[in-house]
Amino acid sequence: MKEYDLVIGLEIHAEVNTNTKVFCSCKNSFGEEPNTNCCPGCLGLPGSLPVLNKKAVEYTVKTGLCLGCEISPLSVFERKNYFYPDLSKAYQISQLVKPLCLGGGLELDSGKFIRLNRIHLEEDAGKLIHKTKTIGTLVDNNRGGIPLMELVTEPDISSASEAVEFLDKLRRTLIYAGVANCKMEQGGMRCDVNLSIKEKGSSKLGTRTEMKNLNSFKMVTRAIEYETKRQIEEIEAGNKIIQQTRKWDDNKGKSYAMRSKENSNDYRYFPDPDLLTVTISKQSIEEIRKSIPELAKDRIIKYTEQYNLPEYDARILTNEKFISDYFDQCLKLTNRPKQLSNWIMTQILKVLKDNPCEDLNEIINAENLVAIVDMLEQKEITRPNANELFNILCFSNLKAKAVAKEKGMLVTLNDEELENFVDEVLKNFADALKDYSRTPEKVIMFFTGKVMALSKGQANPLKTQGLLKNKIPNIIKE
Ligand SMILES: [Zn+2]
Repeated sequence: MKEYDLVIGLEIHAEVNTNTKVFCSCKNSFGEEPNTNCCPGCLGLPGSLPVLNKKAVEYTVKTGLCLGCEISPLSVFERKNYFYPDLSKAYQISQLVKPLCLGGGLELDSGKFIRLNRIHLEEDAGKLIHKTKTIGTLVDNNRGGIPLMELVTEPDISSASEAVEFLDKLRRTLIYAGVANCKMEQGGMRCDVNLSIKEKGSSKLGTRTEMKNLNSFKMVTRAIEYETKRQIEEIEAGNKIIQQTRKWDDNKGKSYAMRSKENSNDYRYFPDPDLLTVTISKQSIEEIRKSIPELAKDRIIKYTEQYNLPEYDARILTNEKFISDYFDQCLKLTNRPKQLSNWIMTQILKVLKDNPCEDLNEIINAENLVAIVDMLEQKEITRPNANELFNILCFSNLKAKAVAKEKGMLVTLNDEELENFVDEVLKNFADALKDYSRTPEKVIMFFTGKVMALSKGQANPLKTQGLLKNKIPNIIKE
């Protein structure tokens, strides 16, 4: 069998995080009663006129700036004409000739740069809800008119893993920039995959197919793997690849031909006569640029350079914005970044796995986590007690210090009591002293452990070690 190269381009749709729709003032929100967020405008009733949402334009421009695009000073909205039951106007307002952003792209970890061709703004369509055979299919128009950014890459991607890495990085950028929520399970981010194969090393591109509306990374991977295999089998069998749009069925793990691929002229695009040309001044571009918050890559630099965290920690903490936000919130209360990072990466993320949420304060509030970390570092509490305290505080409104005190978890011995414990273990385990000249640290740790056990965790380990270091040399001399 010959070897083949994969050529993949992505078209990503992301719903823009505005309060209202893109051409009317209906609410932009998910999960409400069907057909409650609709007006004559987004239903396309005769006589209604679109009014462009400035925020949606700003957010698209902001996205473009985050991804290094060139922002078009003049941009035009066009009508893309087609009929489908979820599109009551029978046209979608979109952009073809003059989109808001051109160029740009994202770098993968390997250093490979995936170029973007463009980002444009358009309106989402409604949603078809397929019920039983007797009820038929229903239309929910709440989604119709929600602002949608379409980001189109160049065919620079050559594997499923590169596609997923690109999507993951893009998703993180949009979330950190605050322009989109990208909730893939709610359709907030969807991806179309354009795929063709060519003989390894050849510059001649093959015929491509398009798979539409993949809404999870797993689906993207499976669909790419399936389609690659299918195209190779067709070519090896001497058949031609037909340019077509294919529907991916995730349950069956197969794709089906939907329709032969249409070209843009099939849609009879023309400028929407109800909308003005959008002009964006250099000054407003600079203002939008200034409003870009810290992105994940900025936070990685901050965590590694300013807080000296390993890159591994920095990547895990910034993987989701809400985790990084929580870490930053905790760091306002203490200056122990590595200790905090350890607690978040181990204990908290473990709890999060079974209890998905979008704010780690719901698991344990920042004040309580910081209190545990500080008490532990100041040796006011032992490690096992700290772990137990953490478990008690999860999903509770209790306060760390109060619980630790009430449960007798704090190290509370006075100096005299501590000295008694130290003397007792030195007497009980006198044999261990013979190793002191050879391995003093080890012997100190051994006795500290015994004091902790005898005092049921009430001894301060630092003080215990100090006492041992004073006492042992004297005992040995005697
Ligand atoms: Zn509306």
